[in-house]
Amino acid sequence: MDEKDKPLLIVISAPSGAGKSTLCDRLLAAHPGIAYSVSCTTRAPRGGEVDGVHYHFLTPEAFEQKVQSGAFLEHAQVHGNRYGTLMQPLRQAMQQGKSNLMDIDVQGARQVRAALASLPPTDLMVNGFVDIFIHPPSLEELRRRLEGRGEDAAEVIERRMANAATELADAGLYRYQLVNDELGRAQRELADIIRKEQRA
Ligand code: 5GP
Repeated sequence: MDEKDKPLLIVISAPSGAGKSTLCDRLLAAHPGIAYSVSCTTRAPRGGEVDGVHYHFLTPEAFEQKVQSGAFLEHAQVHGNRYGTLMQPLRQAMQQGKSNLMDIDVQGARQVRAALASLPPTDLMVNGFVDIFIHPPSLEELRRRLEGRGEDAAEVIERRMANAATELADAGLYRYQLVNDELGRAQRELADIIRKEQRA
């Protein structure tokens, strides 16, 4: 990261299987100045996922306690589980000049926009906000990818496909949209967006 780069609050959303995780991983690897916002969730860890790295895995009770105490910038129910972003680590990172990458769903993105709308325009989070929606090449390809990764039961895949249609309906609310039909190109487009916004 350059000294003069503006700290960004990057929100990335996509239907599951659109290749968002890979794109986010590559963006983070290329930009050590960007911190990954580790969400809280009530879902069980998948193979290889580490508590505190990929998610903070919480019991439904512990999650609800954080909701009640107002710790979340946003929280939502996605595919039957609860997910939320803690406000405090984001603010802290931004105050230290770090950008944050939030991988959240469309409901969460709506809540972030609403929360930022009530803050002054000079606020670091408002000033650095940039939202990006990643499209899968097609719904057929999305299904193929979800089935191909072999992590989810058939019923979960059906739920994710049904949710994809709802998520795609929100794409127009994002400042940037890109199609992940070719990973290398999507990766370059994403890097270009970040570079442009850091200098804006
Ligand atoms: P997964 O369970 O596959 O890791 O994530 C499922 C969905 O939940 C993804 O669309 C992901 O972007 C979303 N998600 C992950 N963390 C959060 C969060 O903190 N808030 C919201 N609203 N969605 C999240």
